[in-house]
Amino acid sequence: MRVFDIFRSIQGEGTRAGLVMDFVRLAGCDLACTYCDTPEARDPSAGRDMTVADVLAALPSPPVPCVEITGGEPMLQPKEVGALVARLIAGGREVLVETSGAHLVQGLDADAVRILDVKTPGSGMAHRMCWANLDHITHRDEVKFVLTDRADYEWAKQVVARYRLADRAVVLFSPADPSLSAAALTRWLIDDALPVRLNLQIHKYLRLP
Ligand code: SF4
Repeated sequence: MRVFDIFRSIQGEGTRAGLVMDFVRLAGCDLACTYCDTPEARDPSAGRDMTVADVLAALPSPPVPCVEITGGEPMLQPKEVGALVARLIAGGREVLVETSGAHLVQGLDADAVRILDVKTPGSGMAHRMCWANLDHITHRDEVKFVLTDRADYEWAKQVVARYRLADRAVVLFSPADPSLSAAALTRWLIDDALPVRLNLQIHKYLRLP
């Protein structure tokens, strides 16, 4: 598989925010979000080729309980990702897979936690969303909206209601820095009493990868 980077850091987002975990960042992404914070990983020729065994051997020591596979876009390498997920789970790790939402994720091991983006109009990539993914999410999964403005917020509210997402998964609303402030999004969430989580990327406050 094509791997851009393997590193240990603090999980900055979602239900496991604050935990030390290992990250396997794969190379290659077929989207071009306006707010992409890892543009260098979008090039499919970036990084290096590694086998599953190479990746397992490159994970930092001592082992930590959780590994996130991110990108780039992991679901562009579904066979390799599936093999890596299986080996990690067999080795006793919890595995998170973060994906853009543009590719079907049903093939992933049911024991993996899927963190599924729903690309908003402000991302410039809403037309690429694979809506069938939302038919198959479970309570294990997290559905994330990165919001650039009030129009994105209103759009995301409609999607959450239409797919009853708050009843079926963890829903994360995240402000896209710097176009939407965390304070403004917080105010809207309080005013609307939405059943979603404010999602701040705390690793960025700490200037961590
Ligand atoms: S899906 Fe992720 S990696 Fe790809 S362009 Fe969007 S933010 Fe960047």
